[in-house]
Amino acid sequence: MKHYDFVEWLLYKNNALPEDMHDEMQEHLSNCDICMDIFLSLIDEKEILAAEDIIQKDFNDKVINKISENKIKVLKSKDNKRAFNYQFGYYVAVAAVTIILTFSGAYTNLVDSVPKITKSMEISEVQRPNVIVNFSEKIVNSTSAFLGSIENIERNKEGK
Ligand SMILES: [Zn+2]
Repeated sequence: MKHYDFVEWLLYKNNALPEDMHDEMQEHLSNCDICMDIFLSLIDEKEILAAEDIIQKDFNDKVINKISENKIKVLKSKDNKRAFNYQFGYYVAVAAVTIILTFSGAYTNLVDSVPKITKSMEISEVQRPNVIVNFSEKIVNSTSAFLGSIENIERNKEGK
């Protein structure tokens, strides 16, 4: 297996790579604990705390405001099916971003504390990213289903 070096992971972390290479490395990271160790060594406590601050103080408020704004727009454009579909996609995107950021924050803390506790837990490190991806997918899917049911209610109202 070809591994990436310290500099490449630093560029990855700073989002300084072309999109296809970034995706490739992200895929590799979820399957390689050697590169995961390098990547985690780039994340220090200061950054984790900074990320927590941003997510807790700003992010939730901003997302909630955005969702409220769009909810009003959806209610106003009930009879415009195309506009509703656009908003529906936006809801799913916001939900997905919220989930990914929330869990990546929790996930970073979790993984960071593991090496301090015990080395014997290393095996689970390989599996953890996949568990989170699956979990996120489940939430996004159930969110889609939930929003789909709202859409159906809206459609039934229009039919009357
Ligand atoms: Zn690797």
